[in-house]
Amino acid sequence: MSDREMKAEQLRKELMDEDNYNRPTICPECGGIMIFRGVGEYKCEDCGNLGYDDYGKARNYIEQHPGANMAEVAKETGVPQKSIRDMVKESRLEIAPSSNVFMRCEICGTTIRYGRFCAKCETAHHRDIEEKARKAKNMNLSGFSLEKPSGEDGAKRFKREA
Ligand SMILES: [Zn+2]
Ligand SMILES: [Zn+2]
Repeated sequence: MSDREMKAEQLRKELMDEDNYNRPTICPECGGIMIFRGVGEYKCEDCGNLGYDDYGKARNYIEQHPGANMAEVAKETGVPQKSIRDMVKESRLEIAPSSNVFMRCEICGTTIRYGRFCAKCETAHHRDIEEKARKAKNMNLSGFSLEKPSGEDGAKRFKREA
């Protein structure tokens, strides 16, 4: 394994635990896995329900309302201003006039226009989360479904937070 591969692996692990701007992982409609489709949009692999993380919500709003300021975006989308500020700081959102600064993907080092990762690495990162969610779902079906626990061993092991 090269240094770069090791670094990428380490970064991916860190990201798994990072707050992903409220990424929808489990479909609220049917309990299926929400699959990342790009720019903050997710689609349930079972029922096709669409979902957005905070980035997707803010981005959609800004696309429809060019020139919207931070306070307006926060108010209209329900995304915390702090998250919007972080996204602007990471250059994931272009509320400020766009610059010509080029950056490098933190995982593979390719040149990118904004954000921290190139589209390929970001997608790979989301595939990891989906795979993790799928494994957790298979191991503990009752914990992820909206139905009440079946009362089998699996249900006892899983502590419901809600
Ligand atoms: Zn669904
Ligand atoms: Zn990359």
